[in-house]
Amino acid sequence: MAKNAEKLHIIPPSKHSFDHHSMSPSATRVIDGLVQAGFQAYLVGGSIRDGLLGCQPKDFDVSTDATPEEVKKVFRNARIIGRRFRIVHVRFGREIIEVTTFRGKSSDSSHQVESNTGQLLRDNVYGNMHSDAIRRDFTVNALYYSPENGSVYDYTNGVDDIKKRQLRIIGDPLTRYKEDPVRLLRAIRFSAKLGFTIEEKTANPIFDNGHLLTHVPPARLFDEILKLFLNGSATASYTLLKDYQLLDALFPATMAVMEKSPYFEGLISAVMINTDKRIRNDKRVTPAFIYGALLWPAFIYEQHRLVTEGVPIIAAVHQAADAVIAQQLAIVAIPKRFTIPMRQIWELQWRLALRTGKKADKALEHEKFRAGYDFLLMREAAGEKLNGLGTWWTRYQEASEDVRHAMVDELQPPHTSQRKPRRRKKKTTETTSQDSVSE
Ligand code: ATP
Ligand code: MG
Repeated sequence: MAKNAEKLHIIPPSKHSFDHHSMSPSATRVIDGLVQAGFQAYLVGGSIRDGLLGCQPKDFDVSTDATPEEVKKVFRNARIIGRRFRIVHVRFGREIIEVTTFRGKSSDSSHQVESNTGQLLRDNVYGNMHSDAIRRDFTVNALYYSPENGSVYDYTNGVDDIKKRQLRIIGDPLTRYKEDPVRLLRAIRFSAKLGFTIEEKTANPIFDNGHLLTHVPPARLFDEILKLFLNGSATASYTLLKDYQLLDALFPATMAVMEKSPYFEGLISAVMINTDKRIRNDKRVTPAFIYGALLWPAFIYEQHRLVTEGVPIIAAVHQAADAVIAQQLAIVAIPKRFTIPMRQIWELQWRLALRTGKKADKALEHEKFRAGYDFLLMREAAGEKLNGLGTWWTRYQEASEDVRHAMVDELQPPHTSQRKPRRRKKKTTETTSQDSVSE
């Protein structure tokens, strides 16, 4: 075991900055309840890390020597969940306190199951605070706080690493990544969110081991990817994912296209920057939009390919969406409630170009108009030349009915115009870009 993982430092309240008052009253109740029932119980993980950094923790996890069944007996509002890791959820209204039993040391036990790549499939061996600490992922996440005496318990020099603002994995990095490849993504997430550097030995194996992510169940990957992009540091997360070459495993079709057309980089970056801005301003963000951008390169490439094979444009849009989504679902289980609006956002990119007659008003009534329009603006912000389509829609939404009519009339191709009949047929001027269609 690495030198970081052995000696216990108990840091008294006068020597650390964790503020007891930042604790949720529900977490205090859970710890008090367990201690009164004769068990050990501590606050653990991200809440202490964030508290020591002076940030308000987002949720509170508790670690105890009580087994899940024993925890359940103490609290009426408790439920045992999970299989890979059995944990207890204690519910207080909308707040859930996650209670985990101290993990034990790995040994050949029927309670611990490993795959042939070293991945832990089931791990329900119990132990003490020390064994629990060294089974956690990063030193900064392996701190314990006792509300009874106000001390922080540190087995892995996590407090030092917080001061140094660095992320260090506990134990042998490659073994720990193989045990649970999601730790690769967690390294990126915490580095992006906290602005911490990834210590060298922790960082080095990340570059070559993205392929391990293909062993992670798609549903878990969906959750983890969402956390990377929805915590206000999507831009930093995306940059780190790229730098550490993890995107190839997560979005292979998109990455293959990006190699050939770096233009798409601008769109994805613009969407990440916009996502962070919306979160800062308490605006809603939807995974449909983020995935829509991440899969757009693959989708456009496939759509073009089908068109060159002679498939009509709109049929190609549908077929390309089907193919790209099916391929991605094998890696990341994006739920239908997000793939459906994602497709609608993509389809709207064509519909928004078709504005003559009643089409503009119909598009405006589309339930995903806003997202489709925002996506269009992102494409333009990324440098795609769309003949001012975004500005047109911005004006159209704000315009009076008369102005709207005039705007649509101006688009009428000359041969269909009532006012100025022309003898010669002329091509419509409504074409927007290679990626959009004209009427
Ligand atoms: P966040 O602020 O994002 O919730 P967190 O550190 O609390 O960050 P959680 O995913 O809530 O992260 O997990 C709680 C704790 O459980 C972590 O701090 C870490 O100690 C431990 N943990 C979570 N996932 C893993 C993992 N894959 N491997 C090892 N330990 C883990
Ligand atoms: Mg947490």
